[in-house]
Amino acid sequence: LPGDPRTDLIPRQVFHSCYSKVSPSAEVENPQLVAWSDSVAELLDLDPKEFERPDFAQKFSGASALDGAMPYAQCYGGHQFGTWAGQLGDGRAITLGEILNSRSQRWELQLKGAGRTPYSRFADGLAVLRSSIREFLCSEAMHSLGIPTTRALCIVTTGKYVSRDMFYDGNPKDEPGAIVCRVAGSFLRFGSYQIHASRGEEDIGLVRTLADFAIRYHFPHLENLSKSDSLSFSTGEGDDSVVDLTSNKYAAWAVEVAERTASLVSQWQGVGFTHGVLNTDNMSVLGLTIDYGPFGFLDAFDPSYTPNTTDLPGRRYCFANQPDIGLWNIAQFVTTLSAAELINDKEANYAMERYGTKFMDDYQSIMTRKLGLQKYNKQLIGELLKNMAVDKVDYTNFFRLLSNIKADPNTPEEELLLPLKAVLLDIGKERKDAWTSWLKSYILELSTSTIPDGKRKNLMDAVNPKYILRNYLCQSAIDAAEQGDFDEIRRLLKVMERPYDEQPGMEKYARLPPAWAYRPVTGSFA
Ligand code: AMP
Ligand code: MG
Ligand code: MG
Repeated sequence: LPGDPRTDLIPRQVFHSCYSKVSPSAEVENPQLVAWSDSVAELLDLDPKEFERPDFAQKFSGASALDGAMPYAQCYGGHQFGTWAGQLGDGRAITLGEILNSRSQRWELQLKGAGRTPYSRFADGLAVLRSSIREFLCSEAMHSLGIPTTRALCIVTTGKYVSRDMFYDGNPKDEPGAIVCRVAGSFLRFGSYQIHASRGEEDIGLVRTLADFAIRYHFPHLENLSKSDSLSFSTGEGDDSVVDLTSNKYAAWAVEVAERTASLVSQWQGVGFTHGVLNTDNMSVLGLTIDYGPFGFLDAFDPSYTPNTTDLPGRRYCFANQPDIGLWNIAQFVTTLSAAELINDKEANYAMERYGTKFMDDYQSIMTRKLGLQKYNKQLIGELLKNMAVDKVDYTNFFRLLSNIKADPNTPEEELLLPLKAVLLDIGKERKDAWTSWLKSYILELSTSTIPDGKRKNLMDAVNPKYILRNYLCQSAIDAAEQGDFDEIRRLLKVMERPYDEQPGMEKYARLPPAWAYRPVTGSFA
């Protein structure tokens, strides 16, 4: 309401609250539906016919209200690039409300780019088509890869232009505005808790309130844990070091958040996904991939791959650093819970320890399956990654082709590399020898197993995707969309919905990037 302090959009520090009521306010002019996800519609019990309604784009641009919506923006803070940055958001995401579907699942709907909130700071609260297409496609691609993520129901264009300095060269360009409707069980982040702890005594109680909320609705199995749930663990430091998770639901929660995060990061490493901005405000307490900005999938294997150009030259969030950054972020999260006296130091340390154990377990298991092995072989996998880095081998296509290797130790030496020809390009004699030697050890290891070649190929193909959302594919869809052609987005979505399947006729989507694509992901992701 005009004059109502809860709805005024003046940027400010919002104390003593977890959110502010605020309605979508992006200007729209003939908004258009760009793309949508049928599988997300199904989660919401939304009849796909609804997408054809003439007022659909009006509603999902925020121009007209949804029945029963109670829009608000969340208050959160975070560590950005390792430094506490205070209150950050949400500057351009507005929650419309929650839907309880027919299976009693709870889904929160958010419009991203629907106008300012009290948390917008210096910015406009809007989003451009380019970044919205990236968020929409990657959310759905990640889901289909089997990796936990926030989802995306649809994108609409606003019909208005938004100014962005995309190369940070002082020459802002007008770009089409767009809004993504994001969907998740919850968008709560580590920073949603940190902000209240950072404000001292007066607001520290909100950490508990918000922890109770998260546990009640999203971790109900942690309420009323009984001793028979056997969640008691020894920290290995003697009898008095046992951490009994059944006696403190917050400790059990901290451990579960740590383990979900570890498992998430291990899956990113498995498919070569680099998030790009792993600030604590981009860390979901549900263990979901959240906030798709300057992300990138590896093409050529490069541990230092850093798709976020604002992260150069430091490379804090490069591909190989993600596991350590996950732990750093968990450390901030448990520090917050400790400050609110929800967990003690021993429980905090224990949650971090469990992050480490869970990450190693899951990562080793993923890599073992990617190679089609029966048991983890550190030396073999380490040697492989070293070779891949030296020859800049395409991460996705290499593993996909690896399943064609026969476990036959009598394979003639000159035939060993044949199945991998398409990914071992332009390598000289010395490197050929290195690969031949690796393949011999690999085949030796394979031949200790009784699994036939065909069965191993099927198992490997089910974990090594053929189709990933390579940056250049996304860019082609964006280029077409900016010319008003949305077909490529829709085609790409269909391909990425079945990343592990052979899709005859769609092979071009599995190709290595063309020469034009060897340029950094560009500047502003707002
Ligand atoms: P990010 O670095 O994308 O995680 O964003 C950090 C914070 O800045 C989040 O709260 C965003 O909502 C906010 N933000 C990013 N872009 C905009 C924008 N164009 N207008 C308002 N807030 C923004
Ligand atoms: Mg963010
Ligand atoms: Mg962002």
